[in-house]
Amino acid sequence: MIQCENLVKIYQASGLEVVALQGLDLMIEKGEFTAIIGNSGSGKSTLLNMLGGLDRPSAGKLFIDGKDMLKFNEKELTEYKRDTVGFIWQNNARNLIPYLTAVENIEIPMLLNKRLRRERALELLDAVGLYHRKDNLLHQLSGGEQQRVAIGIALANQPKLLLADEPTGAVDTKTADQIMQLFNRLNRELGLTVVIVTHDQRLAKRVDRVIAIRDGRTSSEMIRRKSYAEEMAVLEESLDLEEDS
Ligand code: ADP
Ligand code: MG
Repeated sequence: MIQCENLVKIYQASGLEVVALQGLDLMIEKGEFTAIIGNSGSGKSTLLNMLGGLDRPSAGKLFIDGKDMLKFNEKELTEYKRDTVGFIWQNNARNLIPYLTAVENIEIPMLLNKRLRRERALELLDAVGLYHRKDNLLHQLSGGEQQRVAIGIALANQPKLLLADEPTGAVDTKTADQIMQLFNRLNRELGLTVVIVTHDQRLAKRVDRVIAIRDGRTSSEMIRRKSYAEEMAVLEESLDLEEDS
């Protein structure tokens, strides 16, 4: 799904050059659930933004779903963002509208897609486990529930690739577990390729693969594919947790 070779990103900031990625190599298979970890400033968000087509690499190779990202023109980049990826941020304050309801928040981006469909928005709300909160205003929802709305929005265009930058960075441990469980379910049930950035080592244990970045390079790569039975045990455990609360 994702192939990076010698990827370089240099930012120009007030006359200075900041080398955020310096020759990064990376390979992610279709249907894999990957966590990218690393210290603050190591280049995690930069990498995710490249993968999401939010910014362009300075040099190197980047192929996603067989397509050469460095050769994309503006139109192709827009189509890629619209049709292939779903993107989730740590802090959704900029993307969610507090005075609309949960379901209306999901409908808004679909308006831009010329597909205003209450039914579809409700399906998405259901997929992220928030159907019962559909008529609540966003500011009445907890941080974790708001994050679920953001995940619902990211799923609206039926992406192949779900990218999340520190999606659990602003919520407590239990909520973080529930959000991870949701990503796990989307990965398993929809076959979505999921890449999350996190600095939480504990959460990084619940994915297929962990990739560490240091100074803009992947310093280690550890493949740890869980068996389906193990994965289901974890899922059931967190479902019990959710029912208790
Ligand atoms: P992380 O997400 O791992 O904390 P980032 O990818 O945000 O790291 O940043 C990597 C490096 O690139 C940092 O040194 C950061 O200051 C720099 N950087 C990120 N975005 C920009 C930008 N738009 N302009 C200039 N420098 C940037
Ligand atoms: Mg970051």
